[in-house]
Amino acid sequence: MKIVYLKPGKEESLRRFHPWVFSGAIARIEGEPEEGEVVDVYTSAKEFVARGHYQVGSIAVRVLTFSQEPVDRDFWRRRLSVARDLRRALGLIGNPQSDTYRLVYGEGDNLPGLIVDVYGRTAVMQAHSAGMHIDRMEVAEALDEVMDGMIENIYYKSESTLPFKADLVERENGFLKGGTPENIAMENGLKFHVDWLKGQKTGFFVDQRENRALLERYSRGRNVLNMFCYTGGFSFYAMRGGASLVHSVDSSSKAIDLTNQNVELNFPGDARHQAFAEDAFKFLDRMGDQYDLIVLDPPAFAKHRDAIRNALRGYTKLNAKAFEKIRPGGILFTFSCSQVVSKQDFRNAVFTAAAQSHRNVRILHQLTQPADHPVNIYHPEGEYLKGLVLYVE
Ligand code: SAH
Repeated sequence: MKIVYLKPGKEESLRRFHPWVFSGAIARIEGEPEEGEVVDVYTSAKEFVARGHYQVGSIAVRVLTFSQEPVDRDFWRRRLSVARDLRRALGLIGNPQSDTYRLVYGEGDNLPGLIVDVYGRTAVMQAHSAGMHIDRMEVAEALDEVMDGMIENIYYKSESTLPFKADLVERENGFLKGGTPENIAMENGLKFHVDWLKGQKTGFFVDQRENRALLERYSRGRNVLNMFCYTGGFSFYAMRGGASLVHSVDSSSKAIDLTNQNVELNFPGDARHQAFAEDAFKFLDRMGDQYDLIVLDPPAFAKHRDAIRNALRGYTKLNAKAFEKIRPGGILFTFSCSQVVSKQDFRNAVFTAAAQSHRNVRILHQLTQPADHPVNIYHPEGEYLKGLVLYVE
């Protein structure tokens, strides 16, 4: 095993089980590990501290284990079994009304660099590190085994998530097991098409499941605007909840097609729904004041720390437009999925927007990611989704 030696004192965060070794903490590397190879991490006093996937970049090692156990198929099987048992405890496995969930959430499941979302009988597997890409076949086999016949297809979708600088072979997307054109999944009794071949992320935003269910409870008799709708998740929940009208907006026409298909799948011919392929800011500027339930679920405005200030300004600007136009007694569901924007920063940005509008605003709910996106207590970076449900007088 090749060895990464840390600079003196740099093992402290690992002793607290934080699963990353930054390149700046490394004194020297013994042997010349390939990208994605499993390496050992030693202190400057030559004591073993961790074992993980090596990669060139700011995060040099993603820790798989803090003990000297082999990283083999049995290792993957054990880790995946824990992830499966957790989802089972959450009631997410074997529920025909809701067969969409995240089975593996990277560091949150002690599997850094790996995401697995389940859609019915298909698992979509995504590698975010060179190591998980190299080990994908072993991981897929272990996945198949622990799911005990429940998964017929495993689609590998990592083309856009792998470190593009790494010299990795066979990075294209494709089925590692099975292969099916059948792509309808269920969430809380609602159907939707999953475009795992070309869609964003693994094809659907699994992380809004519970927040969509909450929106349904507020929808009766309301005029709903679902801004940044992507596949229309919030829209079909609003329709089931008895909304009077639902308008879905996304700048991508592909997303609008998906939304229309999904609404049609659940509410064929229902005239309450209309979708618009348009920029959010333009739409918010030109729209009237007919909405009394607005969802704002934009893409991450900040992907890096240095973009935080601009991102916060963006959140303020966006929310200010909603506060300006939402009807009295309206309800605003507003989100941020930027990991680098803290809960408090986001709340301040929304606070600033509310103050600009001179409206009375109350916080009804503070939302986050669901339990199938667990946050490893030693890796707080895993917490990313923030939402507020606001009552606007
Ligand atoms: N609410 C969705 C997920 C939203 S993802 C769900 O529940 O599944 C963010 C979406 O914002 C993407 O579909 C992207 O196409 C869209 N988007 C990005 N920039 C936009 C803009 N300026 N105006 C409108 N939509 C935009």
